[in-house]
Order: sequence, then C-alpha cells, then structure tokens
Amino acid sequence: MEKHMTVCPYCGAGCKMNLIVENGVIVDAEPLDGVTNEGNLCLKGLSGFDFVNDTKILTPRILYPMIRRTKGADLKRVTWDEALDFTAQKLLEIKEKYGPDSIMLTGSSRGPGNEANYVMQKFTRACVGTNNIDNCARTCHAPSVIGLMDTIGSGAMSVSIPGLEEAACIMLFGYNPAASHPIVARRIVKAREKGARIIVCDPRVIETARIADIHIQMKNGSNLALLNAMAYTIVEEGLVDKAFVDAHTKGYESWLDVVMQYPPEAVEDTVGVSADLIREAARTYAQAETSIIGWGMGVTQQRQGVQTVHAIASLACVTGKIGKPHCGVAPVRGQNNVQGSCDMGMLPNLYPGYQKVGDSKVRAKFAKAWNVSVEQLSNKEGYKLTDLPHGVKDGTIKAFYNFGEDPLQTEPDSADMEKTLKDLEFFISQDIFMTQTTALADVVFPATSWGEHEGVFTASDRTFQRFTAAVPPKGECKHDWEIFQELSCRMGYPMRYRNTKEIWDEIREVCPQFYGATYEKMEGLGYAQWPIPDVDGEGTPDLYLGGTFNTSDGRALLLSHRWVAPTEEPDDGYPLVLCTVREVGHYSCRSMTGNCRALAQLADEPGYVHINPIDAESRGIRDEELVWVYSRRGKVITRASIDERINAGAVYMTYQWWIGKCNDLTMHVTDPLSGTPEDKFSSCDVASI
Ligand code: SF4
Repeated sequence: MEKHMTVCPYCGAGCKMNLIVENGVIVDAEPLDGVTNEGNLCLKGLSGFDFVNDTKILTPRILYPMIRRTKGADLKRVTWDEALDFTAQKLLEIKEKYGPDSIMLTGSSRGPGNEANYVMQKFTRACVGTNNIDNCARTCHAPSVIGLMDTIGSGAMSVSIPGLEEAACIMLFGYNPAASHPIVARRIVKAREKGARIIVCDPRVIETARIADIHIQMKNGSNLALLNAMAYTIVEEGLVDKAFVDAHTKGYESWLDVVMQYPPEAVEDTVGVSADLIREAARTYAQAETSIIGWGMGVTQQRQGVQTVHAIASLACVTGKIGKPHCGVAPVRGQNNVQGSCDMGMLPNLYPGYQKVGDSKVRAKFAKAWNVSVEQLSNKEGYKLTDLPHGVKDGTIKAFYNFGEDPLQTEPDSADMEKTLKDLEFFISQDIFMTQTTALADVVFPATSWGEHEGVFTASDRTFQRFTAAVPPKGECKHDWEIFQELSCRMGYPMRYRNTKEIWDEIREVCPQFYGATYEKMEGLGYAQWPIPDVDGEGTPDLYLGGTFNTSDGRALLLSHRWVAPTEEPDDGYPLVLCTVREVGHYSCRSMTGNCRALAQLADEPGYVHINPIDAESRGIRDEELVWVYSRRGKVITRASIDERINAGAVYMTYQWWIGKCNDLTMHVTDPLSGTPEDKFSSCDVASI
C-alpha cells in the first residue's frame, strides 16, 4: 500500500489529503492536517477518488486521441502525431483565413492545476495571438473579480478560510456552504460555537440558516435592494466608521446619494421581509467587533452581479469591516482551482498575476519572457466564454478549444449551446471523460486525470498547495501542459518544458506577487498564500491590513447602484422563479462524481425539482412524483421534492443531471458588466405528468 499526498479536486476549500494506492489502483482517501481542512474531509473528499480508476459508471475515461476528419463523420482513433498534426494544420488555416481572434479557448478550473493553465494561456497569447481565453469563473465569480477590482483593487478573498472561525460576525449572501464547501461550513459552525453572530440572507432555509441569529428569507433577485437598505440603516443610525471612510476611501458622497433612496420600509415588498429585520441585520453586522461578508452564486449569477459586489465591498468599507484582522470580504470559489485559473491569466483581459493586457509595459514584459515580439501579443481584450454563442452566430468565432469543461451541461440554454458547438468550423475538446460536449468535438485529446499528474492548486483564499501523482497515466493519456506544448511546437512557437517545476518557476518570475511560492515551500503540508513576493516571506492571510487597498492611490472606491428587477419576471404563463443550485454529493457536470461508486449511489437521474408545499398543493403535485418543469426555452422531466425549506413562488434544481437538465430551461441573459449568466432567475412552471 502506498500513500500519495494531494489536494481535493472538488471545491475551493483546498483540503489536503492522501490517496491510498494498492496494486496501482486508488482504493481509498484519508484526510491530512492541511491548513484549511485540519484533518477533515467532506463526503466528496472522502468518497470522490475512484473516477480516476475508469469505473465507467456514468461514462468511460478517454484513453486515446480521436479525430473527426469531416463534419458528420464518426470520431476515429488516431495516433498522437496524427491528432496533433491535424489540429495544428486546422488552427493555422483558420488563423490565416479569419485572423487569430476567430479562435476561442477556455481553460479548466478543475483537476489540471496552475501549470497546465499557464501553458494554455501562453499558447493562446504567444502562439495563436489572441486574448480569447476564459475559464468557468465567467459563469460563477467573474462579477466578484470585477466588482472587487473596481472597489478595493483585487478580486480575491481578503480573508483566510481558517480566519473565518475568529470573526465576531459572519454575514452570508446567496451562499450555501453546507452544499458547496462543507469544510467552510464547518468553520462557520465553529465560529458560531465561539460566539459569532451569524446572518444568512437567502430565500431558502439553507442548513446554515438553522444556526443563524438572523435569517433574512428574502425574495429571489432582491440582493441589491436589501444591501442598499442595510447601507441606509448604517448611515441613518450613525454606524458609519467616518475615520476609516475619510482615511481610506473615496466616493462617499456619490455612494450616499443612491443608498439614501432606500429606507428599509421602502423595500419591504421588494425584499419580502420587514424593515425591522433589515435594520437588525445591518446593526448586527456594523456593531460587531469584527465582521466578514461571504457570498456565492446567489450574488453573482444575477443581472446585477457586479453592482451587487460593489455594494458588498462598499458596505465593508463604510463600516470599517475590512483592513483589520478577521474582517473582510469572502467570495468563496466553487471549482477547486477556479481561483488558480484566474491567477494564471485564463481571463480575456488579464495576464497571469492580474496584469492587464492593455498595459504596454506588461505586454513588453511578457513578450521578453516568452521570447516573442511585443507586436505578437494582442492588446485587445478577448471574448468571454459567454460570448461564444453569439460569436459563432455572427461568424466572428470559428474555432473553439475546450479544456476540461462541459458547457453543454453547465452553461445556460443548452439547446442554444448545442447548436453553437455544432456550428463551429472546428472544435477541440481536451478532457478525461467523454462528456456530452466532448462527444461533439472534431478532435478529442485524452488528458491525464487528477491523481495521475502533479502541480499546484490555488484554494479560494489564495493558498497555493502542491498535489502529486498517485498512479501512472491511463492508456495513451498525456499531461495537459504537454499537449499544449506539443501543439504549440507544431504551430511554430516552440515550448520546451520538461516538468511542472520549470513551468512554476517561470510563473514565479513573471508574477511578482507569487515569486515567494517555491515548490520547496509547498513540500508536504507546506503552503504559500499570495501575495508572497519574497522567498523568505510568510505570505498574506489577510489583505489590506492598515486600510491600504490595491488601487492606484491606495483608497477604496465606494460604489452604489439602484436595484433593477430581474430580466424575466414571473407571469401568468410561467409564474415560478427557477433558481439553479448545488448538490452536496455531486460536482459540476457530474463527470467526476458520477463515476465514483459511493457518490453515484446517493441519487440518480432525473434528479429533483425542489418545491414549496403550497406551490405543490396548488398544482396537485405529490412528493417524489415525476413532473414536467417548463420554461420559454424548453421542458424537462424530473422528480418533485416537496420541501418546506423552499420559499413559495420559487423552485430549485441542481445542474448535474443529464435527464432533467435544468440548463435546458435557463436563459442566456448575462450581467452586462461581467458576462455572467443570470442563472439564479428564470421564470418557469411545474406540472404533473
Ligand atoms: Fe473537497 Fe471541498 Fe469537501 Fe474539502 S470541502 S473535501 S475541498 S469538496
């Protein structure tokens, strides 16, 4: 029996663990005393390892390269040389014919690690010659990145996961940690046990609401109205930290102009709770000695996602609940390396280390490091992942390189996404499983899985940790970075890395705030929390201590906005709100957890629509009955789960299921500032079959 140290591949909590291997097969997992998990793992961490073994429960591992030589033909097994030559030739032809910006790429925020993502974005920029690179953060925390950069200068969590336990008050907005980050939920329970006040702002009675001091069971889509009313209360009741505002912020008067239009009494109908409860929550947050605001997709997958993040950051600033230990903002990332994908520049406007593509000095630096002329690096911001459907429709995007994602399952309006993928002139997919998306590709590259490769992940709180390989690659699978490198060499831009350490050391050289995070520092249970500019440095658990923000003048910019109703409000034909949520035992598109024996047994197709007893009764729906859920985009069959924790007027579906796929029903409408879909609010109805 062997033990191999790794980091859980599922969520951004970054739990450290061992994989236990017998006769070349992963047979078990055990928790380690990592900085974020301290000897604990949740259900997915403990039971979510055997997908690597090619169990074929849901879908088989891809073991060799395949290509579809002409549209409509079958995928055929080929050698690596044939697959890479074919792909290089097609990409060069498309680049020559339509220009580099006709090629779009998306990176993986799951198992591959930072080194693979770095090499992919380098391939995109230095070889293809475009900034059309994005990652799944576009569908989740892009509004957090943009909203926080606008206000306090960095899109990351300003606090640490372990530090959550020490806060005197934690306010959660649109965030269900028990389902999405169970080890973070455990920290919040511990904070409660130490005396913290817990405020939950969520339409459902989520697990954390049961231990909360205040639960604002708000209406769906009312975040910004609620935050403005809290801000009003804080001003009206003299709870603004004027000294902090004067010393460390700007824009207070403009911020005030908007929030003073939102007395809590004026938003009772919009938010759906009493003004007294809003005032009590605002007071509790502002008067606590230390407070942290945490949020998830309930904030970001909304029409006003970025503006809501502006409001959250501004609330923290005007109350002085940032820039001090155990105070700050915590947008907790979902996929295990989505923070790392952003760190590595898998974004259309930023190079690795959050350096702007529009800055000529930054381009000159990267041109030198990558040995290309500065003219080869585009200064034009690239397309976002959610630009893909209309980019294909209007003919600007001709080729798409999908790395480890399944947009046909996870992006809104799947009928439109399917048409988009089929209409591409050339489509490459690099994955470990034959997902619905990969089955449509013209080229399928078989990649090694988590458990078969090594590298560095970034946890949601900016903690870099190393993970190692436990078993050799299956079949003919290659490491992701090797595939990008070999393709790049064939397309005329040679890369010659021999291992992930060489890639990581290059990342450290081009990203000053990561420089101190050496492989040596991350040996064993070691870690490095960025910014960590010096090799001898300790890293930075809390950002902005002392009130200096990451903006050009060091001051936070306070921003406020009027609340706007969601795009597709319920009406007589579609009277319910459909909100997509997470499932504790499954992850993302389910290709990993659906192939794990223990997790696959938790539930099966077609999943559930969770509905309030009042809405169920008025439709004559019984618990566990098969029902139709329908919207303007389509209809799906699923099971009803009648649940009094669900608010009346809304239903909730998780997005893992292939039958009962909720993204057949969601809308491709996005927050204009981030391009993030409004997945939390589509209108629909439910009916018995
Ligand atoms: Fe894995 Fe997240 Fe669970 Fe930790 S909390 S074991 S990282 S899924």
